[in-house]
Amino acid sequence: MTLDSGVPYVTTWTTEQPLPTEVIARPGSGIAYADETLGDRDGNGVLWQRMASRPGRGRPEFGKVHPLRQRRAMRRLLCGICAGPPDRTEQGVLWLVRDFRNDWPGWPERMAATEPPVCLPCARRSVRVCPALRLGAVAVRVGRSAVAGVYGVRYQAGNPLPIAVADAVVAFDDPAIGWVCAAQLVRELRDCTVLDWEAV
Ligand SMILES: [Zn+2]
Repeated sequence: MTLDSGVPYVTTWTTEQPLPTEVIARPGSGIAYADETLGDRDGNGVLWQRMASRPGRGRPEFGKVHPLRQRRAMRRLLCGICAGPPDRTEQGVLWLVRDFRNDWPGWPERMAATEPPVCLPCARRSVRVCPALRLGAVAVRVGRSAVAGVYGVRYQAGNPLPIAVADAVVAFDDPAIGWVCAAQLVRELRDCTVLDWEAV
């Protein structure tokens, strides 16, 4: 779905609220929903936050990401703003990410990204609408990226019910994955090239 209003595809709307659920222990392996159905887990068996889906209704809540639309954009590599194909050159797919350049040498190589990629018109429009973006964000070409895990709420065993302990990024091959209720899909970015804004 493309929204002419300029509201990003992955943005949550006020009518989209978490659906009531009870998180229970899953013997030996983590957490489950008391009334779990097939659609509550992804292809990797990870439990996902339940959220109503009513894009375009109510007001957009900028900064809040809808779990299922984010997951779709990330899994299929769609522009997070218009849900069309992202921009792609020989150097790779275009991403706008928050600037944490000083976090580690070679940043953003191997970064765990929750932002989906972007297409060129959306990237240009974002910078035009929000000039501050140039200061806080970086445009990156990503040569390859693989879906590597999720960002969500990590639980631990509790009595009588599991207890939510922290927001965390957990890789699919981490045993803690069974204890996470996922909110966003994570891709690991590789072969990254940081671009000048003039190149965008
Ligand atoms: Zn776009």
